[in-house]
Amino acid sequence: MNLTDKILHLLEEHDIKPSYQRMQVLEYLINNESHPTADTIFTDIHAKSPVISKATVYNTLNLFAQKGLVSTMMTDKLEVRYDILTEQHGHFVCKECGRVYNFEHHYPNEYVGLDDFDIQKEEIVLKGVCKNCRQRGEE
Ligand SMILES: [Zn+2]
Ligand SMILES: [Zn+2]
Repeated sequence: MNLTDKILHLLEEHDIKPSYQRMQVLEYLINNESHPTADTIFTDIHAKSPVISKATVYNTLNLFAQKGLVSTMMTDKLEVRYDILTEQHGHFVCKECGRVYNFEHHYPNEYVGLDDFDIQKEEIVLKGVCKNCRQRGEE
């Protein structure tokens, strides 16, 4: 399946009508798994296609998040980051470079004191210094 077909398929699967701008935003997210902010997404797409407006990018991201096509996470700086990966996964936030890394973690997690609670979303966020920044520090 080529990228355009994949994008159309993903939009259809999430009940989103395709438009050129929506396809551009989705393509960007597929190609950039770095958990970009809406501003970064807008700036990068706008550099190539100056007709796209900030409002369009923001509205598109909101729609994608509502429909479950992308997931979101918030950093300590209260920036919303967009993530094409919607399956359960953990995040490691590097305090040096600000990158957000994905990692896998496995069930069952053990929680004590939440009997009879309905857990609907689980976010695992680890913080520290990533491998690249640690290596740079040693040089
Ligand atoms: Zn780092
Ligand atoms: Zn992620």
